[in-house]
Amino acid sequence: MGRYHDAVCRLCRREGLKLYLKGEKCYTDKCPVVKRAKPPGMHPPSRRKPSEYAIRLREKQKLRRIYGVHEAQFRRYFQEAARFKGVTGTRLLQLLESRLDNVVYRLGLASSRKEARQLVVHGHVAVDGRKVTIPSYLVRPGQVVGLTPRGQRNPRVRLLVESGGRQPPPWLEFDPQRLEGRVLSLPDRQAIDVPVQEQLVVEFYSR
Ligand code: SF4
Repeated sequence: MGRYHDAVCRLCRREGLKLYLKGEKCYTDKCPVVKRAKPPGMHPPSRRKPSEYAIRLREKQKLRRIYGVHEAQFRRYFQEAARFKGVTGTRLLQLLESRLDNVVYRLGLASSRKEARQLVVHGHVAVDGRKVTIPSYLVRPGQVVGLTPRGQRNPRVRLLVESGGRQPPPWLEFDPQRLEGRVLSLPDRQAIDVPVQEQLVVEFYSR
């Protein structure tokens, strides 16, 4: 299945909440979820109570869309999380949070995960001083995520950091002078601010 190229705001309206897919616009009152709080499409939403399956499916779609991951890759994350001894849902979130594009976004070097993904793919991001161009690369505690010399010269990144809009979460340490951040630990559930009931996602795949 190809990447989603339609208007991403439709995805938020479909889920009925902000998924923060567009960067700056998400924080303004131009956000369509604020302006039109109804699902996309010409037909009014169904009044029927959603089935248990539909509830779990929506929760899975929400989580997948927040991180911009394809279904096949998302399923692989779930399978890896299920092999883990601890809580599967928390481990799933940790895997998603450890993606390089997410870490770049969390450090405030990009205004959205999509923008972070582009920075990575275009060779602007380095891990422990070496260029990495794979957005799904899983960053480990102790590793340092920074910019390549080309990335350092990127005016958009500098502008974002200087505006100081977003503070990194407690599991990341950011040095604004060097434009790089260290992963201190894996995030615990409280440090992951995604509005998703991950247990329902686990139940979706375990059915
Ligand atoms: Fe979602 Fe951002 Fe579009 Fe609002 S502006 S609907 S939060 S992507």
